[in-house]
Amino acid sequence: MSMTRLLFLGTGGGRFVTLTQERSTGGILIDDGPRLHIDPGPGALSALRRNRVNPKDLDAILISHCHPDHYANAEVLIEGISSFRSGRKRALLASHSVIKGRGEIGPAISKYHLNKLDLVRTMKGGDIQEIKGVKITATPSIHSDPDTIGFKISTSSGDISYVADTELRDGIVDLHKGARILILSTTRPLRARIPHHLSTEDAAYFAECIRPDLVILTHLGKRFLKDDPNYQAGWVHNKTGIETIAAIDNMLVTIGEDIGISSGTGDNGQ
Ligand SMILES: [Zn+2]
Repeated sequence: MSMTRLLFLGTGGGRFVTLTQERSTGGILIDDGPRLHIDPGPGALSALRRNRVNPKDLDAILISHCHPDHYANAEVLIEGISSFRSGRKRALLASHSVIKGRGEIGPAISKYHLNKLDLVRTMKGGDIQEIKGVKITATPSIHSDPDTIGFKISTSSGDISYVADTELRDGIVDLHKGARILILSTTRPLRARIPHHLSTEDAAYFAECIRPDLVILTHLGKRFLKDDPNYQAGWVHNKTGIETIAAIDNMLVTIGEDIGISSGTGDNGQ
């Protein structure tokens, strides 16, 4: 079995943490041969540099929805990577709001930048796109951007599910079934649920439905950070019996037969 790498370029979420960069909001890099960058928000470019990832090696940018903590560095990335003549094809997979705009929301990427890409795909829940042999399924979300999607990525080491900002409702969990790694955007801690976002209680319910090998909590908001991310992850673990961790910036997860977790550069602001 080959090795798949999951690098957390940012683990913060919500407007306050995005503003202060108490945690980076650079998204997640998945390297399974093809390299996919999910949700390159503020801090993505400096996080790539800190982790010695050359942006020109990216094959696709995936953007879940049209809020700046998910897309703010995307145009800079597209502008830069498309000027390298490496023969590599570059793709953008994103929600309708990101690519075309929806009412007062978006678009996040200008026509000029869209035209620089080899493939631009607008996705909604259930849509499938292949990038160099890796199948990517868009999953539904219920969020303040009505076009929000998550992604289930079928890698050589099993399915990795990225659950984007969403409320927990019927129909949200189903497409993530079978995931080996479940990444949950858990903005809110215990006893602090708000509309449009997952809380620690929701994370435990989600984990129970999927029963993956590992649950990773990320996209952590200000209140979540204050209420001790490791305590929140431990609560999910105790409730479900499923291994659960709260992500830290620059954390590297290697997935082969076994799953390895290392703290990366160690520069995670903790
Ligand atoms: Zn959002």
